[in-house]
Amino acid sequence: KPEILKMEVEALSKNEEFARVAVAVFLARLNPTLEEVDDVKTAVSEAVTNAVIHGYQGKGGMIYLEVEVMDQEFTITIRDIGIGIPDIKQAMEPLYTTDPDGERTGMGFSFMEAFMDQVEVQSVPGEGTAVTMKK
Ligand code: ATP
Ligand code: MG
Repeated sequence: KPEILKMEVEALSKNEEFARVAVAVFLARLNPTLEEVDDVKTAVSEAVTNAVIHGYQGKGGMIYLEVEVMDQEFTITIRDIGIGIPDIKQAMEPLYTTDPDGERTGMGFSFMEAFMDQVEVQSVPGEGTAVTMKK
């Protein structure tokens, strides 16, 4: 039977750290290595940051996090009800960014894919985005 964590946090930059740490603490029951913990924290941080700055465009909203642990495997879903992504394949390409002022490198999804075993993005323009990651 899976063990589940569900939380909602406001889409504020300062909550990115909270989300990342909360997920890491929940996953401690799997006795992960420090490297595994760091990988998950990076992936969660990228997805939450995307929800804050792209999904809600810094205007706020709620971010929904769900972690499901089963045996030694886990699934993390990070969802927003923001603007959505018109072309998911393009958005996931390395270096692709819609950031206008060149502050972003377009590597968030690439990091998620590098640090997790599986990354799936579901998104509908105007309805929001869900990123599901497994390890
Ligand atoms: P970086 O993550 O390196 O700071 P980035 O956020 O632009 O830059 P990615 O995280 O790879 O790069 O995301 C690529 C693009 O996908 C974003 O520029 C944005 O257009 C879109 N995107 C990502 N997440 C969301 C989201 N939750 N809602 C809407 N658009 C998103
Ligand atoms: Mg990003």
